Amino acid sequence: MPVRKSRNKAFELGGIRIEPGQHRYIELPLPVLYTHSNVFMPVHVAVGKEAGPVMFISAAVHGDEINGVEIIRRVINAKAVKRLKGTLVSVPVVNVYGFINKSRYLPDRRDLNRSFPGSEQGSMAAKLAHLFLQEITRKCDYGIDLHTAAIGRDNLPQIRARIQGDEKLAGLASAFGAPVILDAGFREGSLRQSAAKENCNILLYEAGEALRFDELCIRGGVKGIINVMRHIGMLPASRRRKQAIEPAVAHSSRWVRTPRSGILRTTCPMGKRIHKNDVLGYVSDPFGTSEVAVHAPVNGMIIGKTTLPLVHEGEAIFHIARFDALGDAEAVLESFQNEIDPVDNEVPGPEDEPMIF
Ligand SMILES: [Zn+2]
Repeated sequence: MPVRKSRNKAFELGGIRIEPGQHRYIELPLPVLYTHSNVFMPVHVAVGKEAGPVMFISAAVHGDEINGVEIIRRVINAKAVKRLKGTLVSVPVVNVYGFINKSRYLPDRRDLNRSFPGSEQGSMAAKLAHLFLQEITRKCDYGIDLHTAAIGRDNLPQIRARIQGDEKLAGLASAFGAPVILDAGFREGSLRQSAAKENCNILLYEAGEALRFDELCIRGGVKGIINVMRHIGMLPASRRRKQAIEPAVAHSSRWVRTPRSGILRTTCPMGKRIHKNDVLGYVSDPFGTSEVAVHAPVNGMIIGKTTLPLVHEGEAIFHIARFDALGDAEAVLESFQNEIDPVDNEVPGPEDEPMIF
């Protein structure tokens, strides 16, 4: 007997009603610029005909973290997403002001990701956070927030989520298929923290550098979102038998700080497996007459590093994740790199034309 399909509900955003089977581009009005130019938060809403979960995907909460903007463009236009069940709400540029200024922050230097839940009467950041929470997060069962490292740093593709004691979220984090899951607590005032308080299951994807497109990180993000949508029944299961990535879980991580000011030469690439006391790099004066080695304080894998070789004493230069089984983590990273290869036609490339559906 065929399973009865239940019809999806309409979705309302900014006073606009989107019916099942429809998709809409919506502009949510934000405080105007001091030039009196209007500013909007752009949102794409796709409401599937059939009922299913409601999920948001968001990027550029930090305005200079732009990998996620391209990830969302590709997800919206991916062939797989045409078979959507439930509702997908895509917000490619949350911090529009920071995006215009190519900056992490709001024009008043506030960090939007430390300003949640915000308020209607507060600062610009508080207003933006409040709007996002009211209009987007509260209406969603799931969310994926896309980030990169801060300016001058690079991150290995990784999922951050508080998975300990939360089997559902652990399953979601694993389904994404990034090589590493960092079981990370909440940052006070973050979108992730306030979404979790609203019972929205939220993952944070961190990959690459600010103000750059990184193809591996972008493909990993597109694939990860589609994987999660399959996992929660928003998309049909993949017909391909290819082994999914089983991410390595790190329950802690540690930043390595430079013991001295100077010019840094790193000798360890991203993703390298390291042992305690391994040399990670050297800090020297411009002539190389005095130099100091930077040693690994623990066993682990480099999941973040500085990209700027000019360092002051005490600056964080390497981020090391600690795993129970380090050898497995290395193998997972290799299979991730092989899986996210450029001939995978499920993940659209930069050259692909958008598909209107
Ligand atoms: Zn960020």
